Amino acid sequence: MPEGDAVRRTARRLDAVLAGGTLVRAELRVPRLATVDLRGVRVLGTEAVAKHLLTRLDEGGRAWTLHHHLRLDGAWRTGSPGPPGAPGHLIRAWLATERGQAVGVRVHMLDLRPSVDERVWIGHLGPDVMAEGFDPLAGAARLRDVDRPLVEALLDQRVVSGLGTMWAAELAATIGAGPTAGTAGLDAELLAAGLTRIRRRMLRALASPARAQRRELLVFERTGQGCRTCRTPIRSGRVGRPPEDRPTYWCPTCQPG
Ligand SMILES: [Zn+2]
Repeated sequence: MPEGDAVRRTARRLDAVLAGGTLVRAELRVPRLATVDLRGVRVLGTEAVAKHLLTRLDEGGRAWTLHHHLRLDGAWRTGSPGPPGAPGHLIRAWLATERGQAVGVRVHMLDLRPSVDERVWIGHLGPDVMAEGFDPLAGAARLRDVDRPLVEALLDQRVVSGLGTMWAAELAATIGAGPTAGTAGLDAELLAAGLTRIRRRMLRALASPARAQRRELLVFERTGQGCRTCRTPIRSGRVGRPPEDRPTYWCPTCQPG
């Protein structure tokens, strides 16, 4: 599952080939949008809101937004105009300006609406951890209010948004709480400090993804390797109810509960 920082990087790549340009190709290969013709429409830019992507368009003064989401397996391939670089049956969208193209492979929740209706897609989201002005104490209060197992609450985009399995596991490790620790029992300041630290790491990862995703990881995908603090082997398991359950990782010594 792409995390908020990865989704933001996708938005930047889309902007590099589309923003400011006029669409010369605009194939939306989902039944509901198959007859929509966006050629000649100007692309204003793509914004990441938590893990949702909003591509804003200007059709001679009328504002439209194309919504899309990567979920577990979606991706945009961006580059110079040319062959799509993916099997046709996997392509959900193919957009191009004179400058470049973006091929949406297995992108999900593809939808088009007047921009005034964007809340339909993002109105349910809790505060986006990566957004400018994110308030960690307010985020901590929301987490405590729902009183659910920590990692499950962190992954629920209605509580706080933008975190995926990696940053949720890392946040729990950062504050020394077990993945199933009840959020109501956790100290608000500690939770807020955890959100602040993870937010900082996500912002760094936006600039330099490789570094953040290897050397700095405390527990994510480190099953069986020694904890960086106490050398106890890192454990893994699943949180949440199937089919929504997700993998998580923790140090049984440093993260009790
Ligand atoms: Zn440890």
